[in-house]
Amino acid sequence: MTDYEPVIGLEIHVQLSTRTKMFCGCELSFGDPPNTHTCPVCLGLPGALPVVNWRAIEFGLMIGLALGCELAQRSVFHRKNYFYPDLPKGYQISQYDVPLCTGGHLGEVRIHRVHLEEDAAKLNHVGASGRIHGADRSWVDFNRGGTPLVEIVTEPDIHSPEQAREWLTLLRATLRRLGVSDVDMSQGSLRCDANVSVRPVGSRALGTKTELKNMNSFAFLESGVRAEVERQIALLEAGEPVVQETLHFDPVSGRLTPLRSKEEAHDYRYFPDPDLVPVVPTEEMIAQARAAVPELPAQRAARFERDFGLSAARARNFAFRTDLGDYFEAAVAAGDGSEPVAIANWIEQLVERIGSDADPAQSKVSPRSLAQLVGLIAGKRVSRDAGREVLSRLVTEGGEPAAIVERENLGAISGEDNGLAEIVARALAADPAAADQVRAGNMKAIGPLVGFVMRETKGRADGGEVTRLIRRQLAG
Ligand code: ADP
Ligand code: ZN
Ligand code: MG
Repeated sequence: MTDYEPVIGLEIHVQLSTRTKMFCGCELSFGDPPNTHTCPVCLGLPGALPVVNWRAIEFGLMIGLALGCELAQRSVFHRKNYFYPDLPKGYQISQYDVPLCTGGHLGEVRIHRVHLEEDAAKLNHVGASGRIHGADRSWVDFNRGGTPLVEIVTEPDIHSPEQAREWLTLLRATLRRLGVSDVDMSQGSLRCDANVSVRPVGSRALGTKTELKNMNSFAFLESGVRAEVERQIALLEAGEPVVQETLHFDPVSGRLTPLRSKEEAHDYRYFPDPDLVPVVPTEEMIAQARAAVPELPAQRAARFERDFGLSAARARNFAFRTDLGDYFEAAVAAGDGSEPVAIANWIEQLVERIGSDADPAQSKVSPRSLAQLVGLIAGKRVSRDAGREVLSRLVTEGGEPAAIVERENLGAISGEDNGLAEIVARALAADPAAADQVRAGNMKAIGPLVGFVMRETKGRADGGEVTRLIRRQLAG
């Protein structure tokens, strides 16, 4: 059997979070009552004239700079002609042969182009099947019509469903960091189409591709691409060709159904929009866009690995979420800087308690408190178990770790403390069989003995200390 390599290219649409629409002064209005943000321009009334939103251009330039693209000195808006009820003009204003940005890359994936366009209105199908032909009625909400969109097209440089998902995660984090979009797949501000083909491993030629439309979650993108790769391999193995077509992936059934074939592909009759002058970004605009690009998630992750010794996976987790990354850096800065990995551990525990989507900075645990708690544990003044108890109290009540330890009597019981030696002695007496085994060198048997001490001290003893005391008493 031949081994096949998946080849995947993504086309991503991003709704920009400008205040107003792409070509008119209507405000963006996600969630407002339908058709309350419209004007002759975005309703496509005859004679209305579009005017470019320069803020959207600036966002486009920022994206281009962040992706290392070449910025066009002069880019052109075209009319992409087709009929659909969500498109009252009969054409979408988009870019064709002179996009705003070309080339570039994000991570290991090259960018083909980045261009600007306008979103269509939103159709809401009401009816039994929810599909346009089976529906009782379809409503058009023009609030969305004319929202600025950036389309990002990659080269076919992605080679597994997991990589597709991971790369889109990186892109989302990058766009979020730029502050140009909400990048929420479930709300449609980030949408992704996947182009998929397979080829025998070692071959350089591209196979025939299919296009999966509107994968609206990271999980569906991965499972949809996986299903399509498997389908194509099965076809080729059976000696049948892959047909170039557009497919819809149903995440519930896992089925892929054709939407349209190559023969039905549109001819959009692109031509330059005579109502719009070409976009010529000035040096000043480009400088302004450049200044607005902050440290990006990929760079931040690399810095977290290099400067703080975090693992690659953890560095990504923290760097890809600005709130986590900022909290982490604030906690490291608040401590003595010696325990960044321990701080990362405890932030993960904090996040587990407050909910994985919550911003830790909004919790009752300040970065300074967290750093202080880590310091107490590192200095062996509080055991790990007691530290967890302190964290729980910080989460519910806030306050200072040292004060909580004092008040709740959670300080570590140390070796010099006769109390601990006495509890260890009781543990050995209570389980002579385990004690004998440890004495004979079977260190696995130490577990129940340590467990006894931990129960007796309510977790306040230091595990390493307890082990040392057990060995010393058994030796003595
Ligand atoms: P089309 O003309 O069908 O729009 P493009 O060449 O513009 O195709 O590419 C659209 C997207 O499909 C890009 O993301 C590109 O990387 C990807 N792509 C092109 N050819 C292939 C292929 N054979 N397999 C997988 N992806 C491909
Ligand atoms: Zn308008
Ligand atoms: Mg194309």
